[in-house]
Amino acid sequence: MLFHERCRKLLKQKRLHYPKKCIPKEEEKPKEEVKYFQCSFCVFKQPYEYFGRNPPQIKNYILLEDAYVIENPFFPPKKGKVIILGTHCIKCRKSVCKDVNCSVYFDGTYCIQCAKNNLQNFPPSVQEKLNRII
Ligand SMILES: [Zn+2]
Ligand SMILES: [Zn+2]
Repeated sequence: MLFHERCRKLLKQKRLHYPKKCIPKEEEKPKEEVKYFQCSFCVFKQPYEYFGRNPPQIKNYILLEDAYVIENPFFPPKKGKVIILGTHCIKCRKSVCKDVNCSVYFDGTYCIQCAKNNLQNFPPSVQEKLNRII
């Protein structure tokens, strides 16, 4: 199905009802481009469905930080189960996955490099964990 990018957004927000207002244009790209999340620190690469704090799949809460999200394939659809693929490091803004070797969460996600550079800012328990990785 062809929609204008803008119309697609409106459709998602239920502010536009197909097909009354959106007239698909032939010259537009026939397929929706698949967007990929790629970790800057390992080979992890996955298509993602949503980036932000408020994924459409979950209703009752918002995420603590902007994240790359997909619906959890191990649960039936529309159950509000999501998988967080990764996010951006709060220091260097590089994309980083949730693997323990790539990132650490402490009041925000740090990539392993920034965690290393800011080691003294973490409490001893986190430092200890980090020392085992780096
Ligand atoms: Zn990674
Ligand atoms: Zn970083």
